[in-house]
Amino acid sequence: MDALKDRIALVCGRLAGQILRLRRKDGATALPGLVSGLISKNLLCSLSQNMVDGVVTISGTNGKTTTTNFLNLILEDAGFSALTNGAGSNLERGLISAYANSVNILGKYPKTALQVGLFEVDEAELARTFDQLKPRVSTFLNLFRDQLDRYGEVDNLALRWQDMIGADNWQGTIVINVDDPNIYKLQECTTGEVTTFGIEDDNLEITDIHNVKDARFCGKGSILRYDTLYMSHLGKWRCDCCVVSRPKPRVSAQNISLRNDSSSFDLVIDGNSKKITIDMPGLYVVYDLLAAAATAYALEIDIDLIVSSLNKVKAPHGRQETFLLDQKEIRILLTKNPTGFNETIKIIMPAFESVKVNLLAILNDGIQDGEDVSWIYDADVERLRRYNIDLVCSGVRASDFALRWHLAGHNPRLVCPNIEEALDKALDNVSAGGRLDVIATYTAMLQIRSILVNRSRKAKHAII
Ligand SMILES: [Zn+2]
Repeated sequence: MDALKDRIALVCGRLAGQILRLRRKDGATALPGLVSGLISKNLLCSLSQNMVDGVVTISGTNGKTTTTNFLNLILEDAGFSALTNGAGSNLERGLISAYANSVNILGKYPKTALQVGLFEVDEAELARTFDQLKPRVSTFLNLFRDQLDRYGEVDNLALRWQDMIGADNWQGTIVINVDDPNIYKLQECTTGEVTTFGIEDDNLEITDIHNVKDARFCGKGSILRYDTLYMSHLGKWRCDCCVVSRPKPRVSAQNISLRNDSSSFDLVIDGNSKKITIDMPGLYVVYDLLAAAATAYALEIDIDLIVSSLNKVKAPHGRQETFLLDQKEIRILLTKNPTGFNETIKIIMPAFESVKVNLLAILNDGIQDGEDVSWIYDADVERLRRYNIDLVCSGVRASDFALRWHLAGHNPRLVCPNIEEALDKALDNVSAGGRLDVIATYTAMLQIRSILVNRSRKAKHAII
């Protein structure tokens, strides 16, 4: 009876989604999951158990979508048929939507030999849905301060995750970033398999120790020491009091080379070293690639296949996408918390002080952006002080963003809450062949992307 109810729930959800899509052409929606979930309360659990090869979850403050996309590429190449919620809807209704959108009219999904559910899950939502998802592999990327109004403290979330994976009825594998002390602690709570990943490169720039805000203390209250610091609080940490230090990871990135528009490194898995090169800049992309590789390895996928898949990756939509309009390049950089903002700042910083940066900075304060925008003060915007920036501020909180930039020594040429108007004004000062960088929070990214997609279509320009 329950199975029938589940199928009816899925069909209703799917129909609701189709009706909505007829009316609004853009984007994915969580409506199917919302409708299905209301009809059958235990739906997520029974659907997850139906996945022949289990469920994989990806969670953490930064890098969920990118890591999920990278892993999906590897899974496809390995012959898996992965059901994903890659569109970024990472709450329970988004997960159910992924199922609802893939069933046929009888409420069944196509049976394939290798079927896996691959879900990026919001950090707080993971603790709520873990019991239903019962993942075969659960990957933990990092924990930074994000959307303070919604999550509370990082430590609180870390404790909830420890309880979650320590539950008696779960024996799955965890894949953890050992460079984050809070994530490393998770391995103490599980009796299942553990796959570790992290960066092994002492030549990388050590960021300012004052940036360490999210994991300053060990569980017993001693201050953590860092021998190498890669980003925010991620690095080679140790606690002299507990005599615990970050272990050498099984999956690591070594000899990292970061350029303005690409990155390369040696991916080392249990002693096997292979070169990875991709057209995406930024150390956080290296972390995302590592997480995807480590998760694939935990799923027993062949190392050579992992490497060849990762060498093919392209920038996923909105997170670092480039558009070409009237011979001007427009690059979108999703930025939603202090750590992400600091990394974005490194990406837009030119090689020479004489190079002008054209910047459109958009700040929204919707639920998905985080309603509390005070995080903009935790990022090191001052680092850009000596550069020449043509700045336009936009979005719902355009004035707040303008004030932040003003305090860092940059007065915007224009403050304009309307995003489309601001885009035009920002582009006015970009010469042909030049580039406009767009910093955008989540909903702002969706808005600017939709404008650019429409204009690209009209101009019959390809998205590069
Ligand atoms: Zn300690």
